[in-house]
Order: sequence, then C-alpha cells, then structure tokens
Amino acid sequence: MKAARLYEYDPAMNVQLSIEDVAPPTINAADEVVVKVGAAGLCRTDLHIIEGVWKDIMDVEGSLLPYIMGHENAGWVEDVGSNVKSVKPGDAVIVHPHRSCGICLNCRYGHDMYCDHGQFPGLGLDGGFAEYFLTNESSLIKLNTNVTPLDVAPMADAGITAYRAAKRAAGLVYPGAYVTVLGVGGLGHIAIQCLKHLCGARVIAVDREPGAQALARDLGADVVLDGGPDLIEQIKDITGGGSQVVIDFVGELGVENICWKLLRQGGELIVVGYGGQIEVPTVELVVNEIKIGGSLVGDYTELVELMELNADGLVKMHYTEYSLDNINAAIDDFKNRKFTGRGVIVP
Ligand SMILES: [Zn+2]
Ligand SMILES: [Zn+2]
Repeated sequence: MKAARLYEYDPAMNVQLSIEDVAPPTINAADEVVVKVGAAGLCRTDLHIIEGVWKDIMDVEGSLLPYIMGHENAGWVEDVGSNVKSVKPGDAVIVHPHRSCGICLNCRYGHDMYCDHGQFPGLGLDGGFAEYFLTNESSLIKLNTNVTPLDVAPMADAGITAYRAAKRAAGLVYPGAYVTVLGVGGLGHIAIQCLKHLCGARVIAVDREPGAQALARDLGADVVLDGGPDLIEQIKDITGGGSQVVIDFVGELGVENICWKLLRQGGELIVVGYGGQIEVPTVELVVNEIKIGGSLVGDYTELVELMELNADGLVKMHYTEYSLDNINAAIDDFKNRKFTGRGVIVP
C-alpha cells in the first residue's frame, strides 16, 4: 500500500515525509480492525512530532522511526478480527484516536484517554497517512447515513479536542458571560460552533490571520479580534473586566503568557495548544482566584456527541483536501497557514 513515512526528527522542519510502498497492516488480535483510510486530518501534533517535541516522551531510544503519522482518521472497515461484532467490512467509520482497552478501571469510568493500556496510532505506531491502518473495535463509531469520511476525519482529534474544551467551558458560563477562543485553526473553528450550540455565552475569537477572522465571523463569533499588542485592554473593555473562560488553542509563540491575563476574577483558562511554558505569579492565582488546567483530546462518548451535532448540521469541519502524494505540500501550507480550518489528506 502507499504510505507517507517519517524517517528523522528535525527541529527546523525541513525534512520531507517519504511516499513509499509498504506492506499493509494485518490483524494480529481478535478485537483488531483494519480500516481503509478515507481521509486523515493533518494536525499541529504531526508538526510537533516532526520537530522532535515528542521524541523524549515516546521515543527516548530513537527506535520508532520510520513510521506513519496520522491520528485523525475516518474510512471504511476493511477486515475484522474473529471477535469483532459491532462493525463489518464496508461500514463507514470514524476512529477515536486512542485504542483503549475497555477493561481497566479508567476505561470503566469512561476515561478513554487515561486507559492504562492505551495506544495512539499515528503517535509512535503506524497511523492513517496511508491507504490502510490498524486499530481496534472499541475505537470505532459508525458514521451516520449521508456522512462521508472526508466530511469528518479531523473530528477524530481536532473535533473532539475542541468539543471537550467547549463543553467544559459551557458548564462554567451563563448568558452574558464571555468565552475567549485563542486561535481559529482546525480546533478553534470547531470550538466556536460548539460553544454557540452548547451555551448562551458570547464568544470572542482571536486570530491574526484575516482568513481565520472571516471564518470565525461566518461561524457566529460575537466579537473577532486580531490579537494585536493591546489584546488584553481590548478584552477587558469588551467584557467589563475579563473573560469568564479562555480556551488557548495555541499554547506557544508567546500566547501562553497572555492567555491567563485575559481572565476575569474567578475565571478559568483551558489549555489545549502546547509547546510553550506558562509562568504565573502565585499572587495572581490567589488574588484573582483564576484556575488553569489542560484538556486532553476527548472521550469516546464525546466523539459520539460531536458526530450527532455534525449529523444535525450544527458543527461542520472546514477543510482543504490534499492527496497523499502531496502531503509535504500540505505540511508546508499548514506551517505557513495557507488554508483555513483543517488540511485533510486523502490516500
Ligand atoms: Zn490531532
Ligand atoms: Zn483501558
């Protein structure tokens, strides 16, 4: 099968993925499923993998390369293990990115992302930038009729990650309160739509790119700002003292040390983007009682909920399509923010 493989980490990001013919995956366990990839979203995490940000976390020995990235996958069931009951070859599916075991205590509580035996195809083992990839039955959600894998593939990670953060924000606000979304890329544009359908708060979207600002307006953001040097003043003015919730989809490039300054007293920062380091004086935490926490992807049931919002036409993925042969061009365009929404790779 055709696949794009990463051969080396490169902090300067000049390395190209190699398009090759490799052996397709085969079923090794009774619960496994081979999925024929319909589409795979291109994620900032893929850029961070190439840069080597994940090397010390998952590839200390440096023995994982070469491998196939791609963790935002949807497609059709190709082959199933002997114990698989809920799907059959030909079914259209979206794939929760974490292969959770379903047996450990965390899984029993529904915390798929905390699974004691979880695996993440596309991070350290082969993923979906290929014609086929291997996962397990418990990660699959059948698509609603009339939904194609191409319509939804990035929902598998970009979508649920944004949904989980937006759902948490929705539980913290009331009509008239403000939620600020920093970064209107693949995740931010989903978060805006989710917030508009989950709660009555007003949404402030911040992005320096005019295309992203226009998309935010189209999707119903109440206020759109360009993230200039007076962002803190602007937000304090608009909100009368600060935002009740800030969702930071950037987490680096200096945004990580502006985001918490946008909160009002008692406000909460939800960190989703990563790469930088937050420095907050402890006195700020005390005097303003602000809360800071991260949000990690999302649970299987959250992906189910998001697919229902999508089926009802309430949350849609905006994407630009690239063929697998053009994946290096897609990565370049992503780095240079040449498209709005998500880049999606089609094998
Ligand atoms: Zn992702
Ligand atoms: Zn588990």
